Amino acid sequence: MTDAEILLLVGAAIYCSECVNWLPARCLVLTGGHGRMRCAAAPEFLGNEHKRLFVLSLLPTTTTLVARHPAYLFCDESLLLELDNRTWQLLTFGQIAASEVRADGDRVLIGEHRFQAGTRRAARQLCRLIQRLAEAPQPSPLVAAHLRRYTDPERAERRTHVLRERLQLLQQLQFMLLTWIFGAGIFLYYFSAAPWQALLRYLSIAVVIWMAAIGVAWCCSRRLNPAGSSDRWKELFFSLVSPMHAVRASDRLSLDALGDEHPLAVAIATMPHRRLEPLARQYIAELRHPLTSESPVSDDSQATRALLRDSRRTLADALADSLSRKGIDVDKLSLPDQQDQDAVCWCQRCFSQYTRLINECPSCPGVATRKFADGPSNINTGSTYHENGDSEVA
Ligand SMILES: [Zn+2]
Repeated sequence: MTDAEILLLVGAAIYCSECVNWLPARCLVLTGGHGRMRCAAAPEFLGNEHKRLFVLSLLPTTTTLVARHPAYLFCDESLLLELDNRTWQLLTFGQIAASEVRADGDRVLIGEHRFQAGTRRAARQLCRLIQRLAEAPQPSPLVAAHLRRYTDPERAERRTHVLRERLQLLQQLQFMLLTWIFGAGIFLYYFSAAPWQALLRYLSIAVVIWMAAIGVAWCCSRRLNPAGSSDRWKELFFSLVSPMHAVRASDRLSLDALGDEHPLAVAIATMPHRRLEPLARQYIAELRHPLTSESPVSDDSQATRALLRDSRRTLADALADSLSRKGIDVDKLSLPDQQDQDAVCWCQRCFSQYTRLINECPSCPGVATRKFADGPSNINTGSTYHENGDSEVA
């Protein structure tokens, strides 16, 4: 194998590594840039409890990446934000807590709320909201207003549209860069009569497209996310170090630009019914039937519990509203597909069916099962709301 061949292989390996993303296990990744969006599924065996490998399409123009942490499920523990001398910490399971160190050295929790924060920018906004919540005498209306905005599929659609428009040129440049590096590289190497001259031409054109892609990515980033200048410089540095990194810039920009939208709202705005339904079913079931591990751990005051319950219900209702506007019946989605012959009850969160009567689903701690004998009319479809600990047992 010659040096040039080794170089091309190394380039291909680096590029493949750019297409593999290490993302939170429960995030939503949508791919397909021309209106036909589908969910990218992470291989079960390649990942751990929290994170998973997502392998994206090798062609940058056909990929739009939307990676989000579904509400109440996951947040990056490493995110620590300092705002107004208070430490706002994102805990696991999408929980955000604010704490203050008192004069005696004790850390006191001053407010807590569970929200999704897919990006640093979203986290900052949420922290500001929580700060307002902690100070507000009646926090629930504030939460409701925020959640309605956050789950509005029309807003998500507008954002997705703007994003696609703005990233068009960048995606074309990325595609050109990729085909030039590998396509033209291989062609010139094997078929050119004067390799040195050809190499010079090849490299100069590659550098021109590479720099153009970096410049356009910089402009897109400034327009889509004016506040994220530190991320922009980091991105610029890595893109200057490796052209393979520059080829995937639009993925990272779309991830950040959709950071303030609920993942299901984005899915409602972009996905066809057939693909949207299983996703919607899972989201709504998880919102309506939270696990015990998702309950507040560090602050279980009455007010916080009420706020959490209200906001979770508002979020589920807002999403159900958006789905019904798209012609999807959430009540129907919340029932198991078909009753197994021997099954007597089923789990309202994971839809597993059981042949003996049990109160709690073994795979979903804290989630009560429902008896099939109840009949569909008695099955909980959202009008009653179960909070952990007081779930109605079938
Ligand atoms: Zn279950």
